Order: sequence, then structure tokens, then C-alpha cells
Amino acid sequence: MTSDISNFSDLGLSEPILQAIKAIGYEQPSPIQAAAIPALLAGEDILGTAQTGTGKTAAFALPLLSRLDPKQTKPQILVLAPTRELAIQVAEAFQSYAQGLKGFHVLPIYGGQEMSGQLRQLRRGVQVVVGTPGRVMDHINRGSLDLSELKSLVLDEADEMLRMGFIDDVEWILERIPEQRQTALFSATMPAPIRKVANRYMRDPREIKIVSNTSTGDNIEQVYWMVSGTNKLDALTRILEVESFDGMIIFVRTKTATVELAEKLEARGYSTSALNGDMNQALRERTVERLKSGKLDIVIATDVAARGLDVDRVSHVLNYDIPYDSEAYVHRIGRTGRAGRSGKAILFVAPRERRLLHVIEKATRQPILPMELPTGEAVTAHRIDNFKAQIDKVFAEQVDLTFYHELLASYSHANDLYPEDIAAALAYLVQKERPLQVKFAPLKPAKEHQRAERTERTGKGKKFQNDDDMQRYRIAVGRTHKVKPGDIVGALANEAGIASRHIGHIKLFDDFSTVDLPKTLAKETLRQLKTLRVRNQVLDIRMDEGPGGESFAPRRKNDKKFDRKPKKAGKAAAKK
Ligand code: AMP
Repeated sequence: MTSDISNFSDLGLSEPILQAIKAIGYEQPSPIQAAAIPALLAGEDILGTAQTGTGKTAAFALPLLSRLDPKQTKPQILVLAPTRELAIQVAEAFQSYAQGLKGFHVLPIYGGQEMSGQLRQLRRGVQVVVGTPGRVMDHINRGSLDLSELKSLVLDEADEMLRMGFIDDVEWILERIPEQRQTALFSATMPAPIRKVANRYMRDPREIKIVSNTSTGDNIEQVYWMVSGTNKLDALTRILEVESFDGMIIFVRTKTATVELAEKLEARGYSTSALNGDMNQALRERTVERLKSGKLDIVIATDVAARGLDVDRVSHVLNYDIPYDSEAYVHRIGRTGRAGRSGKAILFVAPRERRLLHVIEKATRQPILPMELPTGEAVTAHRIDNFKAQIDKVFAEQVDLTFYHELLASYSHANDLYPEDIAAALAYLVQKERPLQVKFAPLKPAKEHQRAERTERTGKGKKFQNDDDMQRYRIAVGRTHKVKPGDIVGALANEAGIASRHIGHIKLFDDFSTVDLPKTLAKETLRQLKTLRVRNQVLDIRMDEGPGGESFAPRRKNDKKFDRKPKKAGKAAAKK
């Protein structure tokens, strides 16, 4: 992290927005925010290279909201996003940053959602619309989205929109909104077609790219855990059980999170304290002293508060929330492995932050290896070891046990019990709150919102369904319509709300294509799919009759296949 990063209050944001930031608990602008906010406030166009996790949403939402007129009820800000998940997420972010703006309304619009509700809300008046390109086009065509007062347009995750085949739609929209507007384009990468859009539709955009070349010491073991199947807190507590650590610093993003997490770990018996910018200097120093002296084992900190923190006994750094960039990462993990000792750095990465992980790896030129969460057996083994160690300690300290010895001898005699049985009952009592035998529920499948994650759409790390669960459908768009598999996936995911992991094998033929979808698909979804358009063709989806059926064209050798064939769920898939 660059040390000269300003405070939010230096950036020129409006008072209600600063209040909201304070209430949410952000301590300091992220690098992309420090660069983008003043430029957007000054009315400039910007071209930002930034991935999810860098704080890019706030980088455009905060300045645009600062300049918004809540009394004007026609849309002033339009954000185009590739997926409904992102549209919802961005709309939620706007809502929370605008908590101090009276009469503020933001509306996410995406396919697969009732049109009537969207129309009603649009009539009532909204200042910000966040939508997927297809649905925004629909509304423009119907005349239900009045963009005559639009001041700013944001293209979020532009490279994703390109990849999903929406770039023509985006250009179509760009042609139909006021020329006198501000445009901000964010993209994790800047491929040529995106640059072309930028050159054509943006006014001398300021390029914002946070580059940092940093390196880390090789005395620090670096691992990451891809957040899935269980929440971060449960994952953290499992890790705390089996990692043997001396001191640990856990990094989170907000001041509020430092306090909340510290309370939760305290409640689980760890001596923990928060360390954040709200605490006065004396209290912060005292906390660091307590960590040094071993009165505290875990400190939950924000980047700002941990700056310069230098405690030799910190053996572990755990990045509970991913840092914004590689520089912040290097700074954080540099809190361990001090004074020639070795250290370990653990990083939690949500599936949608996968790209940021690669950026960090690339910039630090160090591999960060995947880790598995400790299993129930591992935790059990640890608890048993600790339990035995406690008994050993009593003997080692030569505690006088005569009184207990006599008490239990007489109890055993009177009740005709074996000493082992009594010892077992006592062990049970001692460990009642914390049973030695641990069995975790099998990891749940990732939550719905994670399912449609962009990263999963790439096919990597995908858990496919069984062939048996799938039904082959035929859609009336094929190679002659210049369709690409990405167009089909994009339409099914965004317009019909089918999570991409549920979209199987897609095969393109000349006049039609086939796509495998779950047998359990709701009738309502199928109905929607019938009228859905891809490349201007109505899909007219129907069950495929298979080879021999009159509708099935012969397979050609050179049929371009986009292999999304479901793999049998097996060990390899489960291991992932
Ligand atoms: P994004 O890159 O927009 O997806 O944001 C990633 C996460 O960072 C979100 O959970 C935001 O709430 C959080 N965030 C954004 N800006 C800040 C900030 N200045 N301080 C702390 N957290 C932030």
C-alpha cells in the first residue's frame, strides 16, 4: 500500500456520503478509490484497470452519488454490468452509500425478473439504474427507461461483457444515451475491443491502473483457501484449532469488522483484541504491547492500524478479507517472519476474487498454494493431543492429588465402578462444552450467488452435474446466425437466471444448437426461454428428440464443439 494515500475527507466527497462511509466503517480509500474519486468528481471520464476486490464499486459509486441530485427523479446514473448477480450487488452498494440521501432510489434491472415490477419502479422514479445490457435494451426499446437526464454511465467489468457476447448491445446503448455525459469504464483486462469502445465513446479518458511491483521474503509460507461450502468464520475457527501459532494478526477491511470478529473469537476462548484507526494512540500501543508480551494471541486489524506493527512473535498472518492489491498484501504478510523467523500467511479468497489472487501472485512472483480446511479428524486429533497434554501437565507439575485420589477411590469402591469408567465420565464433563470428537457436516455446495460467479463461468473449478440429471434441449440459433457458445451461456445466465454451473454441453450446428440443462428446470423458466432472443433469433427452445428424431441434424466431423460436457462427479471433481 502506498503510504501517501489520502483520507476520504480529503477527496472532495459530499457530506452525506462521508457520513455513510463512516457508518459503514471504511477507514481509508483503497488505491483505485484514491485515484478515481477526484477524477470522477471533476467530471472526467476514466478508464480503470481493476478487478473485483479492489474496491472499484465504491470508486465510482461514491463520487457519482456525491454529485447526484436526489430531487431529480429521472435516472442520472446508469451502470451496465455483465450479470444479474453483479447488478444486484452494485445496486446494494449504491443503496448503502446513499443511506443519507433522502428520496434516493436505485433499481437493478435484469432478465428473468418480472417486467411489471421494474416498470412500476421506473415510473415512480429512480436516480440510479444498474442493469444487464439485454434488459436495459428492452427498456429503451419499450420507452420505459428515460435516459434524457443521464449524467454518468459506468461500464462495469467490461471485459466480462465482451466475453459474454454483450459488446454489441453495449455499443447499441452507448449510441442512444446523451452525448454530454461522463463515462467510467472498469475492466480487469483491456483487450483491443474494449479499447476500441473506449476510444470511440469516451472523452479523453484518464487511465487509472494500480501497478505495483513488490516481492516477499521466502521465509514466509503462503497459502490460500478458496471460500466455499462454509463461511469464513467457521473456516477461521477450524484453522485456529489445528494451526500451531504463537501470535496471529488477522486482517479485515473495516473497523466494524475488527470489533465484530474480535468479539466472536473472544467468545470462542481466544485472547483477542481489535486494532483499528478509531482507537486512540495510547490504546493502540497498549494492544500491541499485550500482543508482544503474550497476553494477547490474536489481533484483528485494518491495514491502517497495523502499519509498522513489528512484533517478533507473530507467526501467522491471516487475510480474512483479501487486500486491495499486491502492495497491501506484501505489507500485511510482512508482519510475520520477522527477526529471521519463519512465518505463515493464509489468504481467504472468495471465488469472485480469484483474479486478484492471480494479480498478487504475479506481482510478488511467489506461488500461493491452495490449502484444504482441516477435517473433523484433524481437529479431533488436535483436541485429543491437547487433552492429553493437560493431563501430562498436572503430573509434570507434581500437583498434590491425594484428596482427589481418596475421594475417587472411595467412590469407586462404594459404587463398584472401574476407575477408567469414572475417568471417562470426568473427561466427558470436562469436555462437555468442547467435545473431543468433532464431526463437521459435509461442506455445503457454494451458495446460489457464488454459483453464477464469473470465475465459474470460465469453466475452471466447476462442479458439473451428472449426465443423468440433464436434458438436451434444442434452440433455434446456430452457426449461420454467427452465434458463439458464450452468447448462449450469457443469455441463459442473465436473461433466464440459470446459474452457469447448471449449463452443460453446448453444441453448435448450422441452423440450430443443442444445450444440456438440468431436468429440474422450472416450467416458468422454460417458458421464458422460448421467447428469449440470442443474435436476434427467438430461441424457441424445445426438448431435443435425439439422433433419429426428425429434428436432429447429422453430426459433422468439423462441428465446432464447445465442450461443456458434464463430468461425472467423482473424487477428482470433489477434491477440486
Ligand atoms: P469491490 O472491489 O467493489 O467488489 O469491493 C470489494 C469489497 O471491499 C466490498 O466488500 C467493499 O465493501 C469493500 N470496500 C470497498 N472500499 C473499501 C474501503 N475503502 N475500506 C474498506 N472496505 C472497502
